[in-house]
Amino acid sequence: MFRAFTAFGRPAYADTPPPRRQFLPREFLQALLMGAAERLPLLPAPDLPWALAERVHDPAYLDRWRRGEVTREEERALGFAWNPAVVARGLGSCGATLSATWDALSTGLGLNLGGGTHHAYADRAEGFSFLNDVAIAARHVLDAGLVSRVLVLDLDVHQGNGTASIFRQEGRVFTLSLHAARNYPFLKEQSDLDIELPDAAGDAEYLDALERALVAAAQFAPQLVFYLAGADVLSGDQLGRLAVSLDGLRARDERVYGWAAHTSTPLVSVMAGGYHRDPAQLVRARLQTLDAALGAFAPAPGTVY
Ligand SMILES: [Zn+2]
Repeated sequence: MFRAFTAFGRPAYADTPPPRRQFLPREFLQALLMGAAERLPLLPAPDLPWALAERVHDPAYLDRWRRGEVTREEERALGFAWNPAVVARGLGSCGATLSATWDALSTGLGLNLGGGTHHAYADRAEGFSFLNDVAIAARHVLDAGLVSRVLVLDLDVHQGNGTASIFRQEGRVFTLSLHAARNYPFLKEQSDLDIELPDAAGDAEYLDALERALVAAAQFAPQLVFYLAGADVLSGDQLGRLAVSLDGLRARDERVYGWAAHTSTPLVSVMAGGYHRDPAQLVRARLQTLDAALGAFAPAPGTVY
């Protein structure tokens, strides 16, 4: 019944050297794709049409990035040098999130095996993020009149600064970010709710903060949730500062998916960050997240459609 979209199979991934630091070496990416394909159908994502990106991002900014007319400073802020694959991957990843959004609205659960580039602002790239996939998909369904209250539940260890900035004046979107206080971005934006965690926060502290987040989320009564299921909260992540265990991560995911499933709130799940020192652990975490999603949304035996 459910399926996942991915931009990982795109030619840009296969034919060009990765533009970013190799956080997930090729053999581990293969293991992730194979593990996912054992669980559910894996579909290649169509490209996002540029016109939809323009509803969130400044057209002049998009035009410059499309043509590669970016400065060194902009590449430094992004975290890697521009090449055509940066644009191709960005469009593919946004297309996967948008496709997952249609799935969520029709089946309850939509999945993108990547996505969650939440540091992209309307007019500037930052932190591995050139296009803000969740903002683009959220804006599209709002513009289309399909929903009128969207929750962005950002549990990546880094604050969703680009998303917070893009939706600062948008009352129909509730931005909620649960993140490490002393981590990037060091100049934070104001989300509708920010919950900050101290360095080395473990499972108990993390899950307690999640409960507070879900109380606020429930009060907003969203009609659609975008869940950024960042694995960079894990102990051993190179870019996180928290100490959540794999079991803690499982508990987090089960709580979030279970909440959405039990309240019949459609949910779009994107993977967001994950930079574990041990890539095998990251693959395990990602597959565990998929299992939590499928477990929560699987219809109870005997359900008739
Ligand atoms: Zn992150």
